[in-house]
Amino acid sequence: VPIGAHQGVAHPLAKAAISVELARLVSQKAAWLYDAGLDAGEAANMAKYAAAEAAIEAVDSAIQAHGGNGMATEYGLATLWGAVRAIRIAPISREMILNFVAQHSLGLPKSY
Ligand SMILES: Cc1cc2nc3c(=O)[nH]c(=O)nc-3n(C[C@H](O)[C@H](O)[C@H](O)COP(=O)(O)OP(=O)(O)OC[C@H]3O[C@@H](n4cnc5c(N)ncnc54)[C@H](O)[C@@H]3O)c2cc1C
Repeated sequence: VPIGAHQGVAHPLAKAAISVELARLVSQKAAWLYDAGLDAGEAANMAKYAAAEAAIEAVDSAIQAHGGNGMATEYGLATLWGAVRAIRIAPISREMILNFVAQHSLGLPKSY
């Protein structure tokens, strides 16, 4: 039986694919707004958030699917995890994006 026939393996990878596609769509929206000379701040922040979370989810799912081998250096996944985990922090952290969306999209008071 191919390993991908097991839903325990396939579903996390399918979820990651959906998250990557959603991040791609909002990234394209941000680029379209910017190119059109419109305010792209909200979409760009949402794109950065979605892309970082999608990347982390995708790599983490791949590590999980590989079990212990996911942490072995020859598979390259553990190295990738360090790289994608950093983009939840830099260049703008997840929390500062949430602050932006709370303040500018939802109209909540500035919190800092
Ligand atoms: C790999 C890597 C490359 C980098 N490259 C560059 C670069 O090229 N140029 C550059 O200028 N910087 C770079 N940085 C720095 C990066 O921009 C900062 O790490 C990032 O902005 C977070 O700031 P900080 O590390 O000072 O964390 P802090 O600001 O101390 O934040 C610590 C934690 O508190 C949270 N936090 C902070 N303020 C708030 C708030 N008001 N509300 C809620 N939560 C908050 C943060 O989200 C974070 O989780 C890089 C960082 C990394 C990890």
